[in-house]
Amino acid sequence: MRSPAFRHWPLVALLALLLVTGCGDPTSSGAGSAAEPTDATPAARPTAVAASSAATPRLPVTVKDKDGQEVTVGDASRIVPLTGDIAEIVWALGLGANVVGTDTSATYPPEARELPKIGYQRQLSAEGILSLRPTVVIGDEAAGPPAALEQLRAAGVPVVIVPDPPSLETPARKIRAVGEALGVGAEGEQLAAQTQAEIDAALALAARATGKPKVMFLYVRGAGTQSIGGKGTSADALIAAAGGVDAGTAVGITGFKPLTAEALAAAQPEVLLLLSAGLESIGGADGLLQIPGVAQTPAGQNRRVLAYDDLYLLGLGPRTGQALRDLTLALHPELR
Ligand code: MG
Repeated sequence: MRSPAFRHWPLVALLALLLVTGCGDPTSSGAGSAAEPTDATPAARPTAVAASSAATPRLPVTVKDKDGQEVTVGDASRIVPLTGDIAEIVWALGLGANVVGTDTSATYPPEARELPKIGYQRQLSAEGILSLRPTVVIGDEAAGPPAALEQLRAAGVPVVIVPDPPSLETPARKIRAVGEALGVGAEGEQLAAQTQAEIDAALALAARATGKPKVMFLYVRGAGTQSIGGKGTSADALIAAAGGVDAGTAVGITGFKPLTAEALAAAQPEVLLLLSAGLESIGGADGLLQIPGVAQTPAGQNRRVLAYDDLYLLGLGPRTGQALRDLTLALHPELR
């Protein structure tokens, strides 16, 4: 029998937390997300795609994966998502309790971080995954290397790889594909429709923008890795959808090119867009302005720097509509 004091400890802890944080609104959720600009029309705020309650897979199913190969999944009791975006989808479909391991890019929901790690999505080792005794592994095209996936197939594990092109149609397609492969097609259909509705609402908002700012996506990881994004990247797709012009694409960059003062001078970006962890790795906006050429761009002069969580902004998962809406409002003061 627990003592009354012990029974009330969660309340005590909550009160202590409220005092410490100075947060007077106990209804505000603790869910972290990128900075959200205020909006005059709160009714238009899309419903959050919360992790749904537990779903029951209807199996077996046979699906075609990205190469047209048939894969039969007979058991989804031990799932290993190979990539962070697919992990987020698995949780959103109500199958989080069945996940037995995740890769290091699986940062959302927070529970995904607490499971045994299988390495990073592009550098997986089959041995680590097999030690978790998965009944199915599922990832997007980032999952690899191919030899590791072959080893999993050879060991008799169903391997499902879903397409992940950098397009605003991808989130709904990926959600449907994951739902089908894991025997929760109806849940997948519902989540895909909701996600697409949020994306469509964000696109309609972006269509009302009058400005078209030049936005440059910078992928940075400390001083060693600093590149400019361009054509064919998911950042380019998000920037265009949010009513901006991708500054890297505009100066002929395809994929990623090293960040140089010359490229910055040629592109003249008005806004710099980064991932939160990347911006942190160089000491925030102050550190960013120290990179040669940055301070001379219009973005640097006006300190127009935006940063969002990696999976939130570029994962092309269930939160894409919310990320697109945040980016649209941040790029267009006229819409706020
Ligand atoms: Mg992906």
